[in-house]
Amino acid sequence: MEIFKKVSESAKNIGEGAKTIGKRSSDMVETARLKFEISKLEKEMENNISALGNLVFLQHKGEQGHEEEIERLLNNTKSLEEEIAEFNDLIQKLNPRPPFCPTCQVEMPSNAKFCYNCGSALAPQDPTE
Ligand SMILES: [Zn+2]
Repeated sequence: MEIFKKVSESAKNIGEGAKTIGKRSSDMVETARLKFEISKLEKEMENNISALGNLVFLQHKGEQGHEEEIERLLNNTKSLEEEIAEFNDLIQKLNPRPPFCPTCQVEMPSNAKFCYNCGSALAPQDPTE
């Protein structure tokens, strides 16, 4: 019976470890996906800006009738920029920065209560973690 208990306990531990790893790797997948989305949006922004440059140049040379297209591209580029900022926010939330000691600025393990470098008490962690 004792052996059975030990086995089932370690099985339980493995299960919990796998859960944590599962969550971490899905965060990593999500981060990679967001980064891919950002690179697509950045590419689109680049295209918009070079199209804008062309239109402004044509306008400068005296061609008429590009105002609407310029306006559309400007608005589109602005919303792309906002979308990129939103994706960057999401990435930040998925990858919180490790805590730092407020006194000596050394990076701390996420569960540290005291700084291992200077001994300062660290602020309590976010309870959602
Ligand atoms: Zn410190």
